[in-house]
Amino acid sequence: MAIDLNNPFAASATPFEEPRPFHEEVPASLPVPTELKGHVHVTKLDELVGWARKSSLWPMTFGLACCAIEMMAMGTARFDISRFGAEVFRPSPRQADVMIVSGTVTTKMAPAVRRLYDQMADPKYVIAMGTCVIAGGPYQGSYSTVPGIDNFVPVDVYLAGCPPRPDALIHGIIRLQQKIQREKNVGPATLGAQYA
Ligand code: SF4
Repeated sequence: MAIDLNNPFAASATPFEEPRPFHEEVPASLPVPTELKGHVHVTKLDELVGWARKSSLWPMTFGLACCAIEMMAMGTARFDISRFGAEVFRPSPRQADVMIVSGTVTTKMAPAVRRLYDQMADPKYVIAMGTCVIAGGPYQGSYSTVPGIDNFVPVDVYLAGCPPRPDALIHGIIRLQQKIQREKNVGPATLGAQYA
């Protein structure tokens, strides 16, 4: 269905052609027809998908020890993670796309962390918060603590500290958002062979 934009040039506008092939070289700058000025914003599909993903991160409601208190503080009015679009903590891993591993990971808990990660939908990301999660922290070498959660799940952002402050965790989320924005989302690997 056509959308009426009250555009006085609509009658003389050139109809859109077939989409360009995926591999076609696009000039660095494209002239915007006069009748479209003020109505459209031109960007790459990759950047649009990356912007949407990074702006709507849903962390999983999940904490293991003292670092989790700092994670909770990140959601309070003083730090207010909703400024960065990541305040919707989800109790179900199926509705979350960020796992913030906050707190000591024991050998008994590590398989449960892996199971929760497996239950999250793709694309999914992991932040390792605190020295316990990164390398065992003060319990390094003990019989009961794993020497790094990256032995069990792939980690995107490491956040040092014991504990890292809430604003440090916000910094970690911003770094993750920058990483998501750089991802290549459109192409044969993600959309199928017709885009090769
Ligand atoms: S890094 Fe420090 S604050 Fe965080 S869970 Fe370990 S001991 Fe607690």
